[in-house]
Amino acid sequence: MDHSMRLCREVGCHLATPRVFLTVPDGLLVDEASRATLIRGTEDHIQNAVNASMQVPIIMEKARANADLVTAANSSFPGVEADVAIGMAMRFYAGFLEMAKIMRKEKSQGKGLPDIEISPEERGADRAGFAHGVRFAWFVSVREDKKRQELVLDGISAEHQELYLPERFRRLSRLAGGFELDNKASVMLENVNRFIKCFAGAWQRCGNDQGRIQARYRGCPSVWLEWCAIPGIACAGRPDHGEKFLMRANSGVIFDFPRGDAGLLVTIGHELAHAFLIASGDPTHVPALDGTHEAVAEAVMRRWGLDMDEYARTIEWVKSHVKNGCFDPLPWK
Ligand SMILES: [Zn+2]
Repeated sequence: MDHSMRLCREVGCHLATPRVFLTVPDGLLVDEASRATLIRGTEDHIQNAVNASMQVPIIMEKARANADLVTAANSSFPGVEADVAIGMAMRFYAGFLEMAKIMRKEKSQGKGLPDIEISPEERGADRAGFAHGVRFAWFVSVREDKKRQELVLDGISAEHQELYLPERFRRLSRLAGGFELDNKASVMLENVNRFIKCFAGAWQRCGNDQGRIQARYRGCPSVWLEWCAIPGIACAGRPDHGEKFLMRANSGVIFDFPRGDAGLLVTIGHELAHAFLIASGDPTHVPALDGTHEAVAEAVMRRWGLDMDEYARTIEWVKSHVKNGCFDPLPWK
């Protein structure tokens, strides 16, 4: 974080101390549009007020004396004392820039020089910094007024996702049938929504077999999205072996199928078929997989009317992407 933005945050913390104002007041800045309004309305005024060669008290006075900044801050934080509103705006802006800079793939070297890629070491050092940062931030990618930049999202801790990016990384979502999606892999909202939709489609195909799956998996209703944590694409949970999930799926693969949702739906349907056979105590699956379990699961899929041609194409595609005969950790990514 550059020095002037560090000063911006510091001044913001003087005016709106984190001890009292840890987060944005309830009900304010709840959506991206209101955050965008705050950032766009204050950034020029903040930058004019914050000069890296100034001391904190001077910057504080300049900020208070800037009528445009006061007005913009007040309209985003109605009912909040003027000083506090300015402080919140400054902390929010500093947090926003902090996140924006860290997640960019490349950084500017200055006028006339090409942008260069940010090294993982630099990124790591910056991230350690924002661990202590303000809780006010907003995500850069929604800024349509700025050139769209490629963002690096890997490695952002779950804590920071929740703190800074709740709209990007929703952790838990409801699934059809009373199941729950646990997004452990920082999958972006767009793909989370695809999964929810495809799960609903596959679940509907289970028809009269839904009840048996629900009964056996009561108490372990979770579907885990993880990045390359399992050897393969997806697997059904084994409540008979103490596993507390309905299925796990590899987010590094399932959102890249060449025919998109069609492949995703049959993949989920395939795991539901295994789950059904496990729930039924089928001897090909319980107490252990007997080697004919794939063929039997495919027969269930066929009975449910899932698209077996699509399933075959999906398997083929996965195999064609395997390197060194190994599904794990799906190294083409
Ligand atoms: Zn299988």
